[in-house]
Amino acid sequence: MSDELRYSMRFELTAEQVELRDALRRYLQAEVAPIVDEYERESRMVPAGIVRKMHEFGLLGGMLGEEDGGFNLPATTYGMLIAEVARVWPSLRSIVSTSNLAVSVLTDGGSDYLKRRYLPRVLSGEAIASFALSEPNIGSDAANLETRATASGQGWTVNGRKLYISLGPVCELGVVFVRTGGTGGPGDVSCLVFESGMPGFSVQSLPKMGMHSCPLGELLFEDVEIPRENLIGAEGKGFALAKKYLTIGRCVVAFSALGIAEAACDAAIKYAAERMQFGRPIAGFQLVQQMVADMLTLVETSRLLCFRAADALDRGSPDSAYLCSMAKRHATDAVLRVAELSLQVHGGAGYTSLFPVERYYRDARHLSIVEGTNQIQALLIAQKALGVSALK
Ligand SMILES: Cc1cc2nc3c(=O)[nH]c(=O)nc-3n(C[C@H](O)[C@H](O)[C@H](O)COP(=O)(O)OP(=O)(O)OC[C@H]3O[C@@H](n4cnc5c(N)ncnc54)[C@H](O)[C@@H]3O)c2cc1C
Repeated sequence: MSDELRYSMRFELTAEQVELRDALRRYLQAEVAPIVDEYERESRMVPAGIVRKMHEFGLLGGMLGEEDGGFNLPATTYGMLIAEVARVWPSLRSIVSTSNLAVSVLTDGGSDYLKRRYLPRVLSGEAIASFALSEPNIGSDAANLETRATASGQGWTVNGRKLYISLGPVCELGVVFVRTGGTGGPGDVSCLVFESGMPGFSVQSLPKMGMHSCPLGELLFEDVEIPRENLIGAEGKGFALAKKYLTIGRCVVAFSALGIAEAACDAAIKYAAERMQFGRPIAGFQLVQQMVADMLTLVETSRLLCFRAADALDRGSPDSAYLCSMAKRHATDAVLRVAELSLQVHGGAGYTSLFPVERYYRDARHLSIVEGTNQIQALLIAQKALGVSALK
């Protein structure tokens, strides 16, 4: 572990970051917050106009270079904005970050043709992109995926299934990880761009616990012909691309957890000040204060780790993957405890859907599973210190 990992300290947002955050916060409070509960209750997709608006705040293609139509934001700024969105509407956050994950892979490895063809519609919010790695038999062991692409006359014929794909039912395009070699393992994984209109492609929606305005699906590829030029980067380089962007994705998931935890904590503080029992606000009771202290501490430790990991990414630190795993694991576990405590502060009201706290819990629950489960993060963290991998 480097000395830098132990000693670096910088905590303030810049004036520019505060301005950007406050502008986004004003928009979210005025235009988005009032419709969230209704849309989630009715499982309606986030309105297209709100997705498009995210472009104006630098959120679509936030970390991509300006030459590719992005905003060249540092991870610290992008993460801060992601937390703001998650605080108000986790489903909207997922739409933004999933599309960004897909276009980051496409931009990093893709040709100028692929960038010209696909980036503008996704970055403007006109089209939604998905990232299809997981499969029915392959989750944590992602390098051993089974979806096959065989070379055909014009390109690739793809057969297989991709499971639990965020936005699968509504995406116009996506990046799909496929096996192109015969020996197995990460060196045989390639990445292709697919379009949902391609013959042989179909999708099935999956019911789920929360995030009802961000659909989840199973993608079926049955003899889907994908043109040769839709290969991203070189054959056999797909897994390296997935790994690189899942590291950044973990930091983004951590910021998402932070946003929900902040919302849950704020809700508890507000409720505790208003709710009267024994002739006084429950905020005055020591056991309620203990719950609030626990929540605040978990939010603060999550925030510190999130910015620490993002700062490491921005500086290209060799410790960035380690810190992203740690931030992801801590913040996504912490948010569940914070939501749980907030629900407890609300008493019976917290269990009803008349208050948003039960939704915070449901919307946060998947975060310890996605982008590598928290058990896998624990193994990656320990591996750095111990020098031994439990995954081989
Ligand atoms: C809401 C949601 C959205 C998602 N979106 C996407 C998406 O957009 N794209 C995509 O590709 N995937 C997506 N996923 C899939 C997600 O990435 C996988 O669910 C995750 O990687 C875990 O895989 P699995 O579900 O197959 O669990 P498994 O890998 O089967 O794991 C089951 C359990 O075993 C544990 N485990 C497995 N291996 C080990 C080990 N070696 N040591 C210790 N414990 C282990 C896990 O931690 C877990 O607790 C999404 C999932 C959800 C729930």
